[in-house]
Amino acid sequence: MTTQEKQNSSVMGTYGRFPVVLDSGSGENCTDENGKSYIDFGSGIGTSSLGYCNEAWTEAVCTQAKKLQHTSNLYYTKVQADYAEALCNKTGYSKVFFCNSGAESNECAIKLARKYSFDKYGKGRHNIITLVNSFHGRTMCTLSATGQDVFHNYFFPFIEGFRYAVANDIEDMKSKIDDTVCAVMMEYVQGEGGVNALDKEFVDAVYEICAEKDILVITDEVQTGVGRTGTFLAGEQFGHKADVVTLAKGIAGGLPMGACLANEKCENVLDKGSHGSTFGGNPVCCAAAQAVLDTVTGAGFLDEVNKKAVYIREKLAAIDGVKSVSGLGLMIGIELENMTALDVANAALEKGLLVLTAKTKVRLLPPLTITYDEIDKGLAILANIIK
Ligand SMILES: *Cc1c(COP(=O)(O)O)cnc(C)c1O
Repeated sequence: MTTQEKQNSSVMGTYGRFPVVLDSGSGENCTDENGKSYIDFGSGIGTSSLGYCNEAWTEAVCTQAKKLQHTSNLYYTKVQADYAEALCNKTGYSKVFFCNSGAESNECAIKLARKYSFDKYGKGRHNIITLVNSFHGRTMCTLSATGQDVFHNYFFPFIEGFRYAVANDIEDMKSKIDDTVCAVMMEYVQGEGGVNALDKEFVDAVYEICAEKDILVITDEVQTGVGRTGTFLAGEQFGHKADVVTLAKGIAGGLPMGACLANEKCENVLDKGSHGSTFGGNPVCCAAAQAVLDTVTGAGFLDEVNKKAVYIREKLAAIDGVKSVSGLGLMIGIELENMTALDVANAALEKGLLVLTAKTKVRLLPPLTITYDEIDKGLAILANIIK
């Protein structure tokens, strides 16, 4: 049996996988079981933010794995304490809850928002507004929060208390807000929904309405966070600081980790016994996340990310067959004139380039450490396919 046959016969068929068995990686490149090499413009859906097996990252992970791999949250560890302090300092948040995925970090934010409101106002103020076309995860609660009908099948009953407002439509947002709403949750750039950035005016209006009514703003920065868009949090570019921010994907460079950050107003809402996670803040994941944080906040690193983003975007826009380029920083959506995104992704795989799709667009989430040389090589492959 081939690896593909074996995996298909033993793993539930929930994914549409590309027909390739990846075996190893280094920097921006990975190699399949036949020795064929690929430039990776997807970095594991934006998780391997420092590329494959980055030296500082690998060293941090291996050192911690050999020292203490897990303790549970019944005990303290220095590596979790150090990382939590560094993350809060960097982002300007008061406290963090650690979990293991994007969906879990959003679950935490939703629980926090409902309890904040319950503690202060009592029952009945539990509704949360999310945006049409959003994506917040695959658990029952985050599926309910996701503003796309295709995710609201089969698994009834879903979790009550979510309303969906049209992105960038201030009037629609206003019409959804009343005294039963405790939070608005949004992605600054909708990733899975098609790499669409919100308008600044819309974001400004949301913050203004929410501030008036003591409604919490939750920003789902699971995909946009940790340098992906050119600033540590995408919110910095919109000039806003949400009450609660969720992170995952690139936070630990490819190990499972999620984080839910809260400002002073909400830092003590989730108190003893109200939330928890066996693996959350695992020492190896914290060591990995610390290596990512140190790298991404290093001198000049994010300037380079921004330069590369401009470079890629200019080159993409000049390719025949590219209709438009969307997103922010190194979170890139490509709208095509004549081809489907999946056809491009399949053709790219053939030619040794991994890309992602998001709805009708080709999506690129290259490692933040990608070199100009690899960018040029990857874009040459893409240009050939799209032309
Ligand atoms: C990927 C993603 C999630 C879900 O993350 P998981 O780690 O798969 O649970 C949630 N929100 C956004 C914005 C995402 O991009």
